[in-house]
Amino acid sequence: MDALPQTAPAKSGAKQFLDQLFGAGVLTETGVDGLYGRSGDFEEVIERFLALVTRTAGADVVERIHFPPGMPRPMLEKSGYLKSFPQLAGCVHSFMGGEADHAQLLQMVANGEDWTEMQKATDVVLTPAACYPLYPTVAKRGPLPADGVLFDLQSYCFRHEPSQDPARMQLFRMREFVRIGSPEQVRDFRETWLERGPEMIRSLGLPCDIDLANDPFFGRAGKMLANNQRDQGLKFELLIPVANEKPTACLSFNYHQDHFGTLWGIAQANGEAAHSACVGFGLERVALALFRHHGMKVANWPKPVRDVLWG
Ligand code: ATP
Ligand code: ZN
Ligand code: MG
Repeated sequence: MDALPQTAPAKSGAKQFLDQLFGAGVLTETGVDGLYGRSGDFEEVIERFLALVTRTAGADVVERIHFPPGMPRPMLEKSGYLKSFPQLAGCVHSFMGGEADHAQLLQMVANGEDWTEMQKATDVVLTPAACYPLYPTVAKRGPLPADGVLFDLQSYCFRHEPSQDPARMQLFRMREFVRIGSPEQVRDFRETWLERGPEMIRSLGLPCDIDLANDPFFGRAGKMLANNQRDQGLKFELLIPVANEKPTACLSFNYHQDHFGTLWGIAQANGEAAHSACVGFGLERVALALFRHHGMKVANWPKPVRDVLWG
């Protein structure tokens, strides 16, 4: 009898692109979806893109802070993140036992048992978005100056969303500008970046669109929150076709109204709760879009694109 034909499951466009990136050595496989090594070229592209973002921000007066990829657990608890996105959060655990516990731990590892129950939660959670540690930091400084404030942040972020789409990683970097002040100051800031963002991305030879969006709020109550966010126009995304039929959100423009101002007690100069907005740049996603559209070899990218990045 003839062997049955081996029908491999059809590979999605995203998986094909991922394999292409592995093949070219742009990303390195680790065995876990969404957790990859990055090549020197990939990192250089991100550095050059960061420099472009800084040039685009021009004379904006910013305070730069880089928080580490972990933040205090109580800060995440108070932020409301666990209410909205429990499915994405990650908490760091560590072994805190004595020698007998250690022996048990090693035995469990040797037996292939689940040894993680031997660990306990630490005070550290993984940062889900670069701006989360900022709001309590600003609140501690007291009322804002009349001009409000503008921050330039960058952090590795964790989200538990394993995927074979290379643009959906579990650990990725986000640069963010965060404006905190009056409703007018904050809305002006977002408007400015809604213009600057597409201009910057098009200068890199990438097609893009801006669209209304919502966050993936958890559960049935989350549907209402998502609809509300859309109805009020609180979130926009800059979308670039990367590896899916659906284009990928590479930049986000979020207006929080006075949500974080009220939650953390950030006061405007006039005493009212501060409004805030953030513009997030998904650094790996922008780099992946460039590799997708211009090819795996950076040296062969179109001259105008290379000029903008390396000019
Ligand atoms: P998506 O709708 O694709 O899940 P998002 O709405 O969750 O994106 P934001 O929460 O606004 O994205 O995060 C800010 C930016 O961080 C996004 O614009 C994107 O560029 C990037 N980003 C978000 N999630 C990931 C991820 N899993 N891997 C890589 N980059 C990401
Ligand atoms: Zn943010
Ligand atoms: Mg998401």
